[in-house]
Amino acid sequence: MALEDYRDDCTDCSRCSYCKWIPFDHIKSARFARACPSIEYCSFQAYSLGGRLSIGLSLLEGRIGYNDELKDIVWKCQMGGACDVSDKICRYNIRGLEVMREMRFKLVEDGQTLPRHKPYIDNLHKEENMMMEPRVNRGKWANGLDVKNLAKDKVAVVFHAGCRYSYDEGLQEIARTAVMMLRDAGVDIGIMGENESCCGGRAYQWGYRKELNGFSRKNAQAWADAGVKTVVTPCAECYYTFKRLYPEIGFTFEVIHVVEYINRLIKEGKIKLTRNVPLTVTYHDPCHLGRLGEPYVPWQGSRQKIYGQIPVWKPSKPRYSGAWGIYDAPRNVLNSIPGLELVEMERIREYAWCCGAGGGVLEAYPDFAAWTAAERLAEAKATGAEAIVSACPWCERNFADTVKTQGEKIEVYDIINLVQMAL
Ligand code: SF4
Ligand code: SF4
Repeated sequence: MALEDYRDDCTDCSRCSYCKWIPFDHIKSARFARACPSIEYCSFQAYSLGGRLSIGLSLLEGRIGYNDELKDIVWKCQMGGACDVSDKICRYNIRGLEVMREMRFKLVEDGQTLPRHKPYIDNLHKEENMMMEPRVNRGKWANGLDVKNLAKDKVAVVFHAGCRYSYDEGLQEIARTAVMMLRDAGVDIGIMGENESCCGGRAYQWGYRKELNGFSRKNAQAWADAGVKTVVTPCAECYYTFKRLYPEIGFTFEVIHVVEYINRLIKEGKIKLTRNVPLTVTYHDPCHLGRLGEPYVPWQGSRQKIYGQIPVWKPSKPRYSGAWGIYDAPRNVLNSIPGLELVEMERIREYAWCCGAGGGVLEAYPDFAAWTAAERLAEAKATGAEAIVSACPWCERNFADTVKTQGEKIEVYDIINLVQMAL
């Protein structure tokens, strides 16, 4: 696809601004009614989905050229897609996120990259990770673990740790705990250790399309060679990449997030949570596990007009409204922990406020990433919870760093931490 293929999406937008808000019937207070971190932080129309659709059209029609202001507009956005949930309610099933992504692809293909992203992409090409780390350290997180390795073993289920869990020393223990929890519950699971590569999804979200193709081929081949049928990951961004993007390229494995697997094992009685965890927590839905975690729906069709006026798609386009993301499994797991109380924030499920770390914002605009996280932490604290818990290392890292730098008074947990406390 190319930006040109989304011309209708750009023209269908009526600039009504509905996508700046969560759907009105879900608003509980003015304080937490906003959907889009970008427009709230930048306070200028171009930094909203509607503004970016205008810019997409202007690019297509040659009315604007490239400059630093345009790059700032294109990349100062987490690509979390809250706007794209609201715009599905508005009209015409506009593919807002796809348009913004195509703009990034176009700029990158035309050599108009963001300098602050360059070292990360260079490192990805050389060391195959998004963490600015050497490849040789990729498997260190699993040192000493008694678990199968795809380099020598056949397994039905591969555990893909992802770049951040592999290299972030503050989070590695979560990946270690998760894989051993599944192994101890009888899952025929293995890791790739030092041979694991980036999923390619994070770079894709930044606008680097070819990188996804390369890494998807490499990963799919390694999994197929080891007899893998199911891919399990504790990372929401990897989950989205495997679940939604790999099938677009033609690779179809069963893809499960760790919290879904743990939820299943709790229901089957293979994981028993018996210890009291007297904690009041609130759950943050990661964008890539929630609204972006819907399965890929193949589609080919064309746009036609009824009576020469009303546009329709034949057959109907898939409507990625966010409703079919993963929301119940993490909540079921939390509600299975004795003594733990789950209290909800105002913006939850597909209407959740982004953590701030996605789309290349954490790397290029750390102040914006921290501001976005602080907004979510304020919402979490308003529930009275002692802790915010999530199921994605990028969310947890951004929350934990913001808590530290801004002196916030709230704990940050991964669901795996809490499950382990209850075992
Ligand atoms: S994308 Fe949809 S919700 Fe946003 S301004 Fe355009 S028409 Fe309105
Ligand atoms: S993806 Fe997020 S930050 Fe970007 S325009 Fe949509 S709501 Fe705003």
